[in-house]
Amino acid sequence: MASIRIPYGKQSISEEDIQAVVEVLRSDWITQGPKIEEFEKAVALFSETPYAVAVSNGTAGLHAALHAAGIQKGDEVIVPPMTFAATANAVLYCQATPVFSDVDPSTLLLDPEKAAAKITSKTKAIISVDYAGHPGFYNELRETAQKHNLTFISDACHAIGAEYNGRKVGSLADMTVFSFHPVKHITTGEGGMVVTANPERAQKMRVFRNHGITTTQRQRSEKGTWIYEMTELGFNYRITDIQSALGIKQLEHLPGWLERRREIARRYTKLFSSTEIRPLQVLDGALHAYHLYVVRLPLSKMKKKREQVFHEMRDAGIGVNVHYIPVHLHPFYKKQLGTKPGLCPEAENAYEEILSLPMYSSLKDSEVDEVVTTLVRSAV
Ligand SMILES: *Cc1c(COP(=O)(O)O)cnc(C)c1O
Repeated sequence: MASIRIPYGKQSISEEDIQAVVEVLRSDWITQGPKIEEFEKAVALFSETPYAVAVSNGTAGLHAALHAAGIQKGDEVIVPPMTFAATANAVLYCQATPVFSDVDPSTLLLDPEKAAAKITSKTKAIISVDYAGHPGFYNELRETAQKHNLTFISDACHAIGAEYNGRKVGSLADMTVFSFHPVKHITTGEGGMVVTANPERAQKMRVFRNHGITTTQRQRSEKGTWIYEMTELGFNYRITDIQSALGIKQLEHLPGWLERRREIARRYTKLFSSTEIRPLQVLDGALHAYHLYVVRLPLSKMKKKREQVFHEMRDAGIGVNVHYIPVHLHPFYKKQLGTKPGLCPEAENAYEEILSLPMYSSLKDSEVDEVVTTLVRSAV
């Protein structure tokens, strides 16, 4: 197999970023120190939302958000199938049931009308996914959630920096979850954050990420006391100061990186406009964050299968990928929930045709051109 010269995603870490991490390593606090709060404040400011709670990864963020929403055994939570398994897994962590609801075929976002039709007396929350970095149907879903007294959680692990009608993702749902895995826009190695306008929920998540203990080690150290109270069962979902120092620096790069990702997307879209390869639609009012650049292959007009195109691209050194295998089709979900093909036809049809192309801020124009030329040649 050829080595991948152009991966589908890649982190950027500057010398200055590294220096910030080294400084923390030389300080008194390498975890539960001041950098965590500084990182939280910076992300809250960036996402135009009052409170932010940093956690060990995006999945922990989803779990914390569901916990803060009071999700428990017997509850149902509506989720789209076109996502990473973590979205639905977090619902199962709460002993609740993920209810898969189909996506809109032009954007692969959770379809708000179909989601509304899945609501039962057991439904307690909706998780929408800003697939690929396109903001979800926030207005429609918020309205539905309010009408049925549900918590509206946004899995925005793809979408830090996206906007919807001029408002930042983070400020549009009851709670919004970001991930800082290296393939996402900004990284802390592993890391995540939940932003919310609700101070009680933020406090619940702070306790939840710290074993269910109401004070931090630093607060006790400052007060000169050993006494702490565990008031509920939580988890160790803490992020470290080492990671937060990296996150603070990464966030400073984010506006420029978002601009570059949008520029790359414009270039791809323009180059594909004269071909049969169809990029996903971008809706009016949406400012896309482009975690992924996803196209649909014109399979009915092609002699080849997607799998062959995938391997030809890889053999040419281009790291294409497929996001995602619909979650309800994983063996675990089939066994656990009895889900099967036919449950979400739009997601299943899309899955046959989609391909994620390289998208990261250091991707060069000449590499974009090479990806397009190679794909067009392969997919005919
Ligand atoms: C990355 C991702 C997650 C999980 O984030 P981690 O930080 O890897 O735990 C959840 N949902 C979606 C849609 C993601 O892309």
